[in-house]
Formats: sequence, structure tokens, C-alpha cells
Amino acid sequence: MRLQEIKNIFHQELDTDYGKEEVSSFFYLLIEHFLKLERFVLAIQPDLNISKEEEQPLFEALSKLKLQQPIQYVLGTSHFMDMEFLVNENVLIPRPETEELVRWILEEVQNGKSEVRGQISEVRNKKSLRILDIGTGSGCIAIALAKYLPKAKVFALDISEKALTIAKENATLNDVPITFLQEDILKTHLEKEFDIIVSNPPYVRHLEKKEMHDNVLNHEPHAALFVPDDNPLKFYKAIAVFAGKHLDNGGRLFLEINQYLAKETEALLKDHNFSEIELRKDIFDKDRMIRASLT
Ligand code: GLN
Repeated sequence: MRLQEIKNIFHQELDTDYGKEEVSSFFYLLIEHFLKLERFVLAIQPDLNISKEEEQPLFEALSKLKLQQPIQYVLGTSHFMDMEFLVNENVLIPRPETEELVRWILEEVQNGKSEVRGQISEVRNKKSLRILDIGTGSGCIAIALAKYLPKAKVFALDISEKALTIAKENATLNDVPITFLQEDILKTHLEKEFDIIVSNPPYVRHLEKKEMHDNVLNHEPHAALFVPDDNPLKFYKAIAVFAGKHLDNGGRLFLEINQYLAKETEALLKDHNFSEIELRKDIFDKDRMIRASLT
């Protein structure tokens, strides 16, 4: 069939759901991914024909997009901090807000200016920085930190074996050494000390479901997203207790948070003896991340 005809079918089937521009962009991503064809190919070869075999992944992708599957799952890849990550329905798709959390950590480690940053830099000069990512999912936080801080020793844990399988593939793909651990943070007996603990745990309450898009709600792993309405900070409590025991002197905790629970998360960290607590907004102007230290 002519590639242009397939593109027309994509528009007929998907434009009402996604809009014309988004559909064109999906189509070009798909032909690049599956057929290794550059996006301008249709401009140069408007009559380009592709074989039945080549058509198949495009039509499969079309059915998935009709079911509102996120394009990242359809392609099987996503980007985070200029790196490529494999993704499937067992892991969350990396978010731009989470990149901001990673950049905050890099900023503190790399530009040892303020007292807080100075302490981390000192630790780094003494020995390699030990970093733990709790609930690593695709591994995006841990792997990006390992890439940008090549001297650090990075550990990443997750309860899900299926997520760890993808995370390990991503570490190989991005050529960084990470120690992966299959652990439940609510029950772990891990015996190790760290200089930085970071986490983007589940934090969405069921009552917030109505704000979510179908592509997230129906396709991303609920275990990585949702927490009970009556105990929304359950992972933050477990992480605060764990970090209280496992953060070395001058170490830091960095967390992605629920925008509606910033005050509560801050109070929880204070209750667990954390200090130097700083809250930051994300690019969408939502309270999205918090940093704290143990003194
Ligand atoms: N930020 C994600 C979302 O909006 C949620 C991530 C999480 O629960 N940790 O879907």
C-alpha cells in the first residue's frame, strides 16, 4: 500500500481523538521507529509503496492508539534527560517533572556553593557518593543520575520484578552500572548507608482520578500511581523512617510529591527530624518536589 494512504487512514481514524497535528507526529514517529524512514520521505517520494510486512506494525500501532494507549508504550521507548528508555505497561512513562527532580540533585551535587551543597560535595570528595532510588520503575532517575555522576555508586530498588527487568535493560542500554534490588520499601531490611536517597513513589489518591487522562488511567501501572485516600502518604512515611536510619551525616532526601499534599509532606518530614526542607514547583507551577536533610 502507498505510505500516504496509510497516513490518510491514520488521520481518518484518529484525528477526532488526538487532533491532526498530533496524529501526523505519531505517524512520523512510527515510520521512523518501525521502518527507519525519515519524516520528510513523503515529501520527496509521495508515491512510496511499502510491503504488507512493513504495513503490519503500523496498523497494529493504529489499533493501540485507538484504544488510547500512550505512544511511548506503542513505540516501546521514551526519552528522559536526553537518554532513551525502554518502557512497557509495567512501568510509568518518565515525566518531565521527574527530570526537574533529577536536575535539582545534579545542581546540588555539582555546584557545591551553599552550605547544603558544600556538604554533599565534601562527601563526594571523600568517597564516591552513594545514591539510592526507591521505586525505580523504568530506572530513569537512577540511570540518569549514574550517567551524569559517573563516580557515584547507584542503587535502585523496586517491589516489581517486571519493572526491574525493564530497568536492568535500560541500565545496559545506557551503559551505566546500577545495583538493582527487589525490595518492598514498606518491609525492607536493607542494611546500607547512603548520601542521597531519592524517590518518586505512588502518590495519586483515588479521589484525583477524575483529573486524569484515559491514556494514563487505563494504561499505566496502578501500583506505581495510586495510594489509599485515607493514607496517601504511606510511602513517604516508610521512606522517612528508612532515610532516618540509612542516610549518612549531611545526606539528603529528594522526593517527588503530590501537588495537593505539599504541606502535609513537609510536616511529615519535620516530624521525622528532617531539616533544611525546601519545596519546589514544577514547570506547570505545581508543588512537585521536596528536599530535606538529616542533621
Ligand atoms: N506524576 C504522575 C502522574 O501524574 C504520578 C507519579 C506518581 O504517582 N509517582 O500521573
